[in-house]
Amino acid sequence: MKTVIVEVSARHIHLSQKDLEKLFGKNFKLAKFKDLSQPNEFAAKETLVVKGTRDYFPKVRIVGPVRRKTQVELSMTDCYFLGIKPVVQVSGQVRKSSQVTLQGSHGRVIASAIVAMRHLHISKEQAKAWKYKNNKKIAIMIRGERSAILDNVIVRVGNFKTHIHLDTDEANAVGLVNKQKVYIYEK
Ligand SMILES: [Zn+2]
Repeated sequence: MKTVIVEVSARHIHLSQKDLEKLFGKNFKLAKFKDLSQPNEFAAKETLVVKGTRDYFPKVRIVGPVRRKTQVELSMTDCYFLGIKPVVQVSGQVRKSSQVTLQGSHGRVIASAIVAMRHLHISKEQAKAWKYKNNKKIAIMIRGERSAILDNVIVRVGNFKTHIHLDTDEANAVGLVNKQKVYIYEK
């Protein structure tokens, strides 16, 4: 059976250069806190206040480097806590997303917030070997006390390490911890 390592994503923020400068000042650069497993991605030292209509998180981690578009990734539980509608979207597609306010040391920005659709990052080589195309949807099986099959895991082929990304709600619901192995469920 095919197995893949799962990484559990906590709430985080991707910023455009423009929004980064609005929040932290002109020519501001993110400082690296630690590398993440995907090539070039890093957790920044900087955090932001994320405000919804009901409540706020005081310190949400920024993930660098800067991207074309600002996007806040939350779990459904986070959305209910903030008082915003949870909208499940493929990362990068923020058209129907909810909005939150980001507060930095120099200013604030209204940003799109999504619940990222669970996904498999897969290297081009591995995708070829498994005959997986970009945007294919697969299912995974989790074994253990909270054994489950999770369907609709969208495949993202690229310059990636092969990992599945779930959010904290999804992982907790099936008793998964970071870096745990799951099985591809062949329908
Ligand atoms: Zn991901």
